[in-house]
Amino acid sequence: MIVYRTVFEYAQWLCNKPTGQSIGFVPTMGFLHRGHISLIDASKGENDITVCSIFVNPIQFNNPDDLKNYPRNEKADLDMLEKAGCDIVFIPSYEEVYPEPVSISYSFPGLDDVLEGAHRPGHFNGVAIVVARFFDIIKPNLAYFGKKDYQQWMIIDDLAHLKFPEIKIKGMRIVREEDGLALSSRNARLSKEERKVAPLLYEVLKRSRDLLIDFSPAEVCIHCEKMINNSGLLKTEYFAIADAHNLQPIEKINTNQQPVAFVAAWLGNVRLIDNLELF
Ligand code: AMP
Repeated sequence: MIVYRTVFEYAQWLCNKPTGQSIGFVPTMGFLHRGHISLIDASKGENDITVCSIFVNPIQFNNPDDLKNYPRNEKADLDMLEKAGCDIVFIPSYEEVYPEPVSISYSFPGLDDVLEGAHRPGHFNGVAIVVARFFDIIKPNLAYFGKKDYQQWMIIDDLAHLKFPEIKIKGMRIVREEDGLALSSRNARLSKEERKVAPLLYEVLKRSRDLLIDFSPAEVCIHCEKMINNSGLLKTEYFAIADAHNLQPIEKINTNQQPVAFVAAWLGNVRLIDNLELF
């Protein structure tokens, strides 16, 4: 496994790469877990070379405390990637990623002003800027994103259609703990007590599927929010049922839609998100 820390080193490698070898790319912010490794595995299965980036992107954090407390462990990350058979790890500094002040801005009408976009101003602009920069540097054929960040995956798919039509975007299933909690680097910041109640989010997402048989999506959301808040420790930021095609809220279920339940909730000072494709 090769570790590159500069754009120049990677570009040199790219120049010497035999033509025809495909590159699969997995962008991450590090503190890796089995969810990230599932993306590495998928890339290895479909590409000649797998590149993983580790970069905690300050411009996508709308909350300074979240950035300050974001967990990091480069040594453990490199061990996991080596074991997983990753070929290249790209770990750039801030200056390598942003050699000049950022001047571009992205918007994704209809997609970036709902759900996470409505609650984290500027977040998806920051994500799109860094992913576009990495696509320019890494030049992958395929890029892998987790459906854990469902809206991010859809926005990056849009970005690729607009700016990088040569790159195919793959959305991969959510990897969970045995008790249902979606793996997340932020889970490491939960106390023992918080960790115990965290799987309730997935329980309630599953429950929303049953409730939709008898209730409207709006009623289901209110009920699910209550179930989460009744735990005492969890505080819902939003619970929504939206259409997988456009992320717009669903008022009445019909057969053309593909409902997905989305939740964001605070557990202590950790913000967790999760979702479930309902049909
Ligand atoms: P992050 O390091 O949190 O920016 O995540 C890097 C990539 O891993 C993103 O595409 C995430 O959606 C994906 N990812 C994070 N957690 C999971 C999970 N539990 N299952 C599958 N993919 C995940």
